[in-house]
Amino acid sequence: MILMDDIIREGHPTLRTKTEEVQFPLTDEIKQLATDMLQFLINSQDPEIADKYDLRSGIGLAANQVNSLHRMFALHLKDDKGEQLSFIAINPKIVSHSVENTYLPTGEGCLSVDRNVPGYVPRHARITVKFKTMDGEEKKMRLTGLPAIAFQHELDHLNGIMFYDRINEKNPFAEIPDAVPYERD
Ligand SMILES: [Zn+2]
Repeated sequence: MILMDDIIREGHPTLRTKTEEVQFPLTDEIKQLATDMLQFLINSQDPEIADKYDLRSGIGLAANQVNSLHRMFALHLKDDKGEQLSFIAINPKIVSHSVENTYLPTGEGCLSVDRNVPGYVPRHARITVKFKTMDGEEKKMRLTGLPAIAFQHELDHLNGIMFYDRINEKNPFAEIPDAVPYERD
């Protein structure tokens, strides 16, 4: 079971390292890690389990964050229609994206960052993505809203990028070109 102590924090070199494509079929070790990563997110959103193990609630977790350089991440969140999205994305890619951008007005957070970093993080408003499932099946998905933002945040991790790298240094709340802020109702 992954706990907060298993999650590395900013300053650790693995968070700045680009991950490597995962080969199929998956080894048992990678399968276990992927399953544990998704389970962590599920646990972190369960008030009783989160309280018992002192877990900070998260919607996404990339392999780098548990000090592994496999190119994969887990997401567990509801989309804007209230549908539960819960998957492990292996060797994920963005195949196309909208011209329109978006950002979270409250800024982004990260399980590997134990401080509040204010500022707008520009993201594509809509993305079409491809990734492999644990069985090696190729999935194509269109994401908007929070799932699109979270996917981009996690994909950045796999490339060694932290969300605050994208915040305007001089003016963290400068207007983002072509952007509509993301607000969940
Ligand atoms: Zn993060």
